[in-house]
Amino acid sequence: MDKLSSAGYGSTAGSCAVIRLHYSTPDGVAMARAGYHYWINWPEYLEVEDELGPVTYINTGCLVMKTAHNKYLKNVMASLDNLGVEYEELDIAGIKKKVPFLDTRKYFPVKLPDDPDFGEPTGEAVAGAIFVSESGYISDPQLSTHNLQRAAEAKGGEFMFNAEVVDIRKKEGRAAGITLKDGNQIDAPIVVNVAGPHSYIINRMAGVEEDMKIKTRALRQEVCHVPAPEDIDYQRDGTIISDGDIGCYSRPETGNHILVGSEDPECDEREYVDPDNYDTSFTKQWTAQAMREAQRIEGLRVPNQMQGVVDLYDVTDDWIPIYDKSGLPGFYMAIGTSGNQYKNAPVVGVMIAELIKKVEAGHDHDKDPLQFFMKYTERSFNVGFYSRLREINPDSSFSVIG
Ligand SMILES: Cc1cc2nc3c(=O)[nH]c(=O)nc-3n(C[C@H](O)[C@H](O)[C@H](O)COP(=O)(O)OP(=O)(O)OC[C@H]3O[C@@H](n4cnc5c(N)ncnc54)[C@H](O)[C@@H]3O)c2cc1C
Repeated sequence: MDKLSSAGYGSTAGSCAVIRLHYSTPDGVAMARAGYHYWINWPEYLEVEDELGPVTYINTGCLVMKTAHNKYLKNVMASLDNLGVEYEELDIAGIKKKVPFLDTRKYFPVKLPDDPDFGEPTGEAVAGAIFVSESGYISDPQLSTHNLQRAAEAKGGEFMFNAEVVDIRKKEGRAAGITLKDGNQIDAPIVVNVAGPHSYIINRMAGVEEDMKIKTRALRQEVCHVPAPEDIDYQRDGTIISDGDIGCYSRPETGNHILVGSEDPECDEREYVDPDNYDTSFTKQWTAQAMREAQRIEGLRVPNQMQGVVDLYDVTDDWIPIYDKSGLPGFYMAIGTSGNQYKNAPVVGVMIAELIKKVEAGHDHDKDPLQFFMKYTERSFNVGFYSRLREINPDSSFSVIG
């Protein structure tokens, strides 16, 4: 059921669709690695052809800067080692060789542009970086959702668009179905909340929010698209860069543009909003991100004309999602994706399906969390990591990095 007119028109349409592996926790890295395999085997996963064609995975590699905040990537490297993922550890000369047009000076702590010290280096050089070659992005996140719609339909799934859920109905202590805005009622023994930034509204309809220790909220985000310096072919020579030193992540974007997102530095205000009523225009945040990126990319100009995306994250208290059952039998949730779960969506779908089957067969997932076997990485994953009843995970970055 979707209140919008087509598959993937929610926050997925605004996604930067970056497929990268560096998360702050070993579980985060393991899940991203499992997800990566679905993207590189996309047609095989879909099993059907979409008349609009499949999306493309574009491999660029990902350069991740070492900072004190990310513990100089020690935990990330240990997790990658554990999974057998190859990466290069780079010093300044290595970074320059990989991406020659980078200014490798240190700028941390991240500042607002009106800070008198903005743009002044705080050190001769960043602390180094790692380069993970198996990383990239998806050509069109909205189309990837359409691909999944067609794949689900081929297995008997049905989709309703322009269909707004206004109530979660209950009967005998269980979820019994949904009521739509036009009054239509649809009965269902299982209801799954996948409402993105509206997830908390659906949870309130179901009356399950009280039972949750970790909750979700809608957070406004701006993403910039800026032209690359004229002498750089960014599509060919650019890469994904996750740069905590300047508080930005970036990747090549069509038209020789650079897409720049925020890594949520402490100096930036967090704008929690009503997902049905928020400012969709660019603000000072856009300029701040473009100016921060210009510290790193030599010759980058900040254009007067602002281009990019304004959209919402569905953020949890610790920026790690909730993939779980709820206090209401028959009602499940895959929410709180915190700006970093597009890449995991295919594997999460498989995981949630298994969770539902087990719980409906009588398994007590809260007491004895499901162990999910990830077929591509041949590892088990403790799904309790994503529980709504967990304590806030102190190892999280509390940012889009997860
Ligand atoms: C700007 C931005 C950049 C991002 N970049 C990345 C990235 O590079 N890599 C990455 O891995 N992740 C990224 N993410 C995160 C990722 O895109 C999201 O985690 C993912 O797209 C969420 O998908 P979803 O289906 O859960 O939510 P959505 O795509 O938001 O879908 C939820 C759907 O629920 C519908 N809905 C809501 N309420 C109702 C209702 N009452 N009745 C009926 N339907 C309803 C909405 O219409 C919507 O279509 C980014 C997110 C944003 C916003």
